[in-house]
Amino acid sequence: MQLPFIRSVRDVDLRKQRVLIRADLNVPIKEGVVVSDARITASLATIKAAVDAGASVVVMSHLGRPSEGVYAEEFSLAPVAHRLGQLLSRNVPLLAQPEDCAGIGFGEVGLLENVRFLAGEKANSAELSRRLADQCDVFVMDAFGTAHRAHASTHGVAELARDACAGLLLDAELKAFQQTLRAPKKPMVAIIGGAKVSTKLEVLGSLADIADRIIVGGGIANTFIAAAGYAIGKSLYEPELLEVAKTIASRVEIPIPVDVMVGKVFDEATPAIVKAIGDVAADEMIMDIGPVTARAWADSLLDAQTIMWNGPLGVFEFDQFGEGTRILAQAIADSSAYSIAGGGDTLAAVDKYSVTNGISYISTGGGAFLELVEGKVLPAVEVLGRRSA
Ligand code: AMP
Repeated sequence: MQLPFIRSVRDVDLRKQRVLIRADLNVPIKEGVVVSDARITASLATIKAAVDAGASVVVMSHLGRPSEGVYAEEFSLAPVAHRLGQLLSRNVPLLAQPEDCAGIGFGEVGLLENVRFLAGEKANSAELSRRLADQCDVFVMDAFGTAHRAHASTHGVAELARDACAGLLLDAELKAFQQTLRAPKKPMVAIIGGAKVSTKLEVLGSLADIADRIIVGGGIANTFIAAAGYAIGKSLYEPELLEVAKTIASRVEIPIPVDVMVGKVFDEATPAIVKAIGDVAADEMIMDIGPVTARAWADSLLDAQTIMWNGPLGVFEFDQFGEGTRILAQAIADSSAYSIAGGGDTLAAVDKYSVTNGISYISTGGGAFLELVEGKVLPAVEVLGRRSA
């Protein structure tokens, strides 16, 4: 993977500039209060850099999925403005319309209301892109999590603003991927879990070319286990992808578990039973790898120099089926390899098993993470590359 050269805020003089930052502040909110501010704190470095440089700073983001062009209180960024203000120890006014950016002085910060309240956002409309671009001297793209979408606030504005560059978070994300995908230190092990092969087919295909071994887990593993000829009872799997799984398994080493944890119903209270891989009964569901497999796979990470992890190895939301994910997560954290983890459920697992500190880079991207691994060029990154040339 060869990414274009992209200038970041480090390369651009922001003094007395009107700076518009696209961040990803799409955080969980309950009853008007931000429940997890991880995405806000991840965005602080760029915001602070711009304020410290003496810029007039406006941050913008989407939140949830309102019907586009219509204000709805439940999708308002007001709680985010409040939390951002606390984190920056300053007042952060919420701006209803792009034109309100004009009221933010140099050294001040404002937050534009949910960009999805603006008609034309998702269609990347030229009119909205122009309206946003007119509010700034420099557009700063820092929302890695939405960089795979060509929207007005991620793509159109980057085309039309007087200048455009990457923020520090986006820059760090792209560098972490470069390091992992372009010339990974070998051996490289990829750990790909989650529910369905179909959603990660391209990822598995491109990793088959890069990685020395792919550890598959979750529902994805079930398809590979079935493809290897074992009975999997009523486990979640994709019969139409058996041949595809066989082809992938012929291109790269994909270990099959020797034991698994099964349950009879998909339920939080279902007891977990250990079964040898050849002994899964017709009324059972595989919901995790077994203890012998978990130990062996954890040990097999010892020689890895690069580890990429996306997706849980089992139904980790139910504690009794979370051990495989916990043991592998701990092994990644303990490993001296360069490790990168990302994707929605992966971050939940990283949190649940408190392994944040042991992982070299934790990506904030879900869809963007997968698309980069697939070797795709993210639209918002492509335009920044052109503007940096
Ligand atoms: P994904 O979004 O594709 O990463 O999938 C994550 C989801 O897959 C989690 O909610 C897991 O509970 C679920 N999952 C993992 N392993 C299994 C399994 N063996 N059977 C059913 N669902 C699973």
